[in-house]
Amino acid sequence: MIVTKQKAFEAILKELDGMEKVFLVGCGDCATLCETGGEEQVKEMAERLTSEGKTVTGSVVLEVGCHELDAKKEFRAHKEEIDSADALLVMSCGAGCQSARAGVEKPVFPANDTLFLGNVLRYGQFEEKCRLCGDCLLDITGAICPVTRCHKGILNGPCGGTNEGKCEVDPEKDCAWTLIYQQLEREGKLEKMKAYQPPKNWNTVLKPGRHVIERKRGGDAGE
Ligand code: SF4
Ligand code: SF4
Repeated sequence: MIVTKQKAFEAILKELDGMEKVFLVGCGDCATLCETGGEEQVKEMAERLTSEGKTVTGSVVLEVGCHELDAKKEFRAHKEEIDSADALLVMSCGAGCQSARAGVEKPVFPANDTLFLGNVLRYGQFEEKCRLCGDCLLDITGAICPVTRCHKGILNGPCGGTNEGKCEVDPEKDCAWTLIYQQLEREGKLEKMKAYQPPKNWNTVLKPGRHVIERKRGGDAGE
């Protein structure tokens, strides 16, 4: 899921400077789990903006904030409330904010900062384990990502600083390469540690990313 953090309320007010009427957009998926754009936070935001003298013309919590077709459909259903607003304040990730951008011509502002693709460790606790490098090498690292979980992102680890399984950069964190070693040892595949990994080809993650699923006749996703 995409992990977000709400901006300071003062920063949101600054964004909305000169915008008296605001329509709020939340996200029922990641932002709800992050408590940055669910029903409760949208209601809270409406109350805070109202107490600052703004008029909240309406709100919607999209099922999934980054689904552009759904956003457009919901915006049509809330046309009057949106038409009467000066701007939209979007309480989701940057992708969701740009779904709103694609659905209206009015000014759109983000209420959140977008942090990373996160694993949910437990409710309210997220950790980045994949940084979307576009050429996954988990097959050779025991399904532990050095690109993301090693502070130096090295592909031929460990570095000289690993200390009793902890990382020299942040002793609170496990050394990713120690974890990789331990996992490969469990699998009886330590020879993978000896194979030299060439520098990563970052061309696989040229931005902006775009991907279209090829469909076989009949509608099934192809290879
Ligand atoms: S190597 Fe790491 S960053 Fe790249 S796709 Fe795999 S898990 Fe994600
Ligand atoms: S101690 Fe381990 S995780 Fe930290 S930078 Fe070195 S190899 Fe990477």
